[in-house]
Amino acid sequence: MSHRRPVPARPRPLVVLVAAALAAVTGAGSAAAPGEVRPLAVAAVGPAAAVSPVRPPPPPEASIRWRRSRALGRPDRGRLAGGVQLPAEGTHFVTVDPVGRRSPNPGWRRYGTDRLVRVLLRVAGEHTAAHPEAPRLVIGDLSRPRGGLFGPEFGGDGHRSHQNGLDADVYYPRRDGRETMPARVGQVDRRLAQELVDRFVRAGAQYVFVGPRTGLRGPAKVVMVLANHDDHLHVRLDRAVIGR
Ligand SMILES: [Zn+2]
Repeated sequence: MSHRRPVPARPRPLVVLVAAALAAVTGAGSAAAPGEVRPLAVAAVGPAAAVSPVRPPPPPEASIRWRRSRALGRPDRGRLAGGVQLPAEGTHFVTVDPVGRRSPNPGWRRYGTDRLVRVLLRVAGEHTAAHPEAPRLVIGDLSRPRGGLFGPEFGGDGHRSHQNGLDADVYYPRRDGRETMPARVGQVDRRLAQELVDRFVRAGAQYVFVGPRTGLRGPAKVVMVLANHDDHLHVRLDRAVIGR
């Protein structure tokens, strides 16, 4: 089976096109049999269409349905109104399902406020710009489409928070460059992980939770050590920065 793309017809010099069109209309040059004139005329039209440049497909981010979101209640007891879905993957990120440990994360686990989705896209873009050779950002759970409970009844360990579109899990970059979650802290690229923490702090995170064995640091009131965060950081936005 061939996977080669069809090669677009090469544009012909204008003179040839005009001559061919003239021949088709006037019947000139019809020393050839009448049946052969018609393909010439078709050829005169065909290449003109092929001359228009082939546009690359738009990036997945272009399909995001942006709208104004509202985080209601609290991260551990709240809802999400007007949530925005993060695409399954993007130019600078992939998503991963923490339950099945595979990509992409199901769509219903990828809703956040518009502000949260923008911050994730921006940090992912900065990360790739600074380290083009590094794996794309590996993003896990955000919130459900309308927020609310996201506990173990939704698979895996579940979350106490992630209820109102302000929380996202981001897996630390792996030293081996694989775009998936680290299986143990020894696989984490510490330098890239610290840069990621710093980027989220600069992006205005209210909290960034990191694991006790990661050695990651940051401003005391923002970057906090929390159990079960040795393979990913958890970023929480402050409601106050929404819509900024
Ligand atoms: Zn989390």
